[in-house]
Amino acid sequence: MASSGDSKTQVVTRLGMLGGAFDPPHRAHFALAQAAIDQLQLDQLRVIPTGQAWHKSRALTAAEHRVAMCELSFTGLDRAVIDRRETLRDGATYTFDSLLELRAEFPAAQLFLVLGEDQARAFTTWHRWEAIAELAIICVAARADESGATGGFSTQSAPTPPFKRLELPLLPVSATDIRQRVASHESVSPLVFDSVARYIEQHHLYLTP
Ligand code: ATP
Repeated sequence: MASSGDSKTQVVTRLGMLGGAFDPPHRAHFALAQAAIDQLQLDQLRVIPTGQAWHKSRALTAAEHRVAMCELSFTGLDRAVIDRRETLRDGATYTFDSLLELRAEFPAAQLFLVLGEDQARAFTTWHRWEAIAELAIICVAARADESGATGGFSTQSAPTPPFKRLELPLLPVSATDIRQRVASHESVSPLVFDSVARYIEQHHLYLTP
């Protein structure tokens, strides 16, 4: 994982953004990040934990914990940078605002927004989605819905913005499932990295569902 110091000096022409609650970060997040870096030939991928995301009804775990677990989880990825900007904002946080800031910070870079298919299905409900599609190429990896069904989204049937497919095997992992397992005292290995499992235990996270 690059440090924020490295990120200032590195020449960045292809910049990805992977946003999420990361409550907690899990192996599928890592696989998605790795696929994006490799397949999109990114110079850098900004992993951006949300503040209080507008579309999550549940109160999220404190940002300091989610950021710390992201630092542990993405440590094996040289080009990933954990970016706290959304956790420092007051009120609702929007992907659009982060992309706009990245555009200003890296004016010469092509931006890529990396999403799982569940998020892509809801994309046209997002705040300023059309403007997002103008700022970044939307890159989507397959993900089953809650019932285990796949599909429901295709790059052909997608609305106007250009969507690009990321090749990723279907990974039946979700943060919801991990939180439920912790609350029922079940193992979360290998769904999260060992360092994250230890962090969850040490900080008594997710003990109530
Ligand atoms: P929760 O279960 O709490 O809703 P989550 O597992 O979906 O959480 P998020 O932090 O909301 O995790 O996801 C961040 C990004 O990673 C989203 O774009 C999401 O679609 C993607 N993602 C998460 N899990 C997977 C998976 N198993 N396969 C593909 N993409 C995934």
